[in-house]
Amino acid sequence: MTLGQAPPGPNGSGHGPFRRKGLKIFLLNGPWFHPDRPQCVQEGDRAIATAESVTVIGAGLAGLRTVERLRHRGYRGRIVLLGAEPHLPYDRPPLSKQVLRGERDAPWLRAADDYAGLDVEVRLGEEVLELDAEQRVIRTRDARLPYDVLVIATGASPRRVPGINGLVLRTLDHATDLRGLLRPGARLAIIGAGLIGCEAAASARSLGVEVDLIDVLPGPLIRVVGPQVCELVADLHRAHGVRLHLGTAATRGGPGELALADGTAVAADVVLEAVGAAPETGWLEGSQLRLDDGVVCDAEGRAAEHVYAVGDVARWDGRRSEHWTNAGWQADRVAAAILGQELPLPEAAYWWSDQYDIKLQGLGAPGPDDDVHLIAWGPKARTVALYASNDHLTGAVGFSAAAAVMRLRADIAAGTAIGEVLARLAP
Ligand SMILES: Cc1cc2nc3c(=O)[nH]c(=O)nc-3n(C[C@H](O)[C@H](O)[C@H](O)COP(=O)(O)OP(=O)(O)OC[C@H]3O[C@@H](n4cnc5c(N)ncnc54)[C@H](O)[C@@H]3O)c2cc1C
Repeated sequence: MTLGQAPPGPNGSGHGPFRRKGLKIFLLNGPWFHPDRPQCVQEGDRAIATAESVTVIGAGLAGLRTVERLRHRGYRGRIVLLGAEPHLPYDRPPLSKQVLRGERDAPWLRAADDYAGLDVEVRLGEEVLELDAEQRVIRTRDARLPYDVLVIATGASPRRVPGINGLVLRTLDHATDLRGLLRPGARLAIIGAGLIGCEAAASARSLGVEVDLIDVLPGPLIRVVGPQVCELVADLHRAHGVRLHLGTAATRGGPGELALADGTAVAADVVLEAVGAAPETGWLEGSQLRLDDGVVCDAEGRAAEHVYAVGDVARWDGRRSEHWTNAGWQADRVAAAILGQELPLPEAAYWWSDQYDIKLQGLGAPGPDDDVHLIAWGPKARTVALYASNDHLTGAVGFSAAAAVMRLRADIAAGTAIGEVLARLAP
């Protein structure tokens, strides 16, 4: 079948095309027909829809992966990638690790030469200010740009602590600025003992920086690993000389001295605010999209007709994730949805974090009240935490125990009985 011909429906009954705002749409009576999946053609054994163009907003991981997956899946139409930052897409995980330690320059996701091969029009330093989903137009400072299919990949921005005026760590420029201040003997106060705060603490200690780590919650990473495992994370930081101030808030101050609610005064040359990130949706206020801690999407990432959202900004089926692996998986699923192809299956949620010489890895989505079973795994007695609800495995966190954690993927998906998993891993 050649481009432009209607493919037969499942019972062989395709109907002719009609045009709608740059999209050729075939009316089909098959169950897989959707107005976002225009003009499907058959190439080999794959259906490929040919919206004339796809516009991706946000030149970060999720935006770039969407472009790559569209091309990989055979899309030949025009792709435009707009990014507010002046940089080509780069990877964020190294920012709090190798970049902060000065071991690596800018972690580009692709070499500049690759973009021609991807056949993507990259427009950097172009912040999108407005979306009109009814008219299918976006607006930047200088232009109104119509789109056929839109993918929102605008990520998240650091939350701020009122009255502190410290530094934040989200972008390459942030990491470069902070790196310049982390000299041996400097005093760094970090507000927020989540993933980024803990990683920054570990990187700073390796540079000989004095570190105070402050959190209003009772343990580092408590929201990610729960109250039992966060004790192990706290011990890890204490063992490396980090002063922990837990269950107390930073109330005022900034570089110089930071006042804590428990009366402590923390001397600090540099203050880092690491209290989480908010989805970057301010520019969508007043659009027709539903916003609720992110762009509200269905399980395929569809936010409205012809509009999808992926990565940190997107709330799929009631859940928003701020992890690297999720951004890539969602990008692939949206590419498949746009092209009318079979959707890749959901995967167990996965995250990792490098702190000192430990690689923490987490799988699944355990609830805050799940039971926790701590085991020493393998000849090196690596710690693995297994989480269970109603005696069925819901998640795992390993301390440099990749092989054990990765083997649990299928068990987490299947909800295997915890007794069976314990017998296998810690016989
Ligand atoms: C320091 C750091 C360390 C991390 N470490 C880990 C880790 O170890 N493991 C892990 O699993 N995850 C980690 N993450 C999380 C992971 O990097 C993110 O989940 C991932 O980057 C999300 O990609 P994204 O494309 O959705 O968002 P982003 O990477 O934030 O990209 C969004 C892009 O959109 C642009 N943008 C925003 N608004 C507009 C607009 N209106 N117009 C145009 N462009 C716009 C932004 O400038 C940005 O470049 C880390 C994150 C950070 C910040």
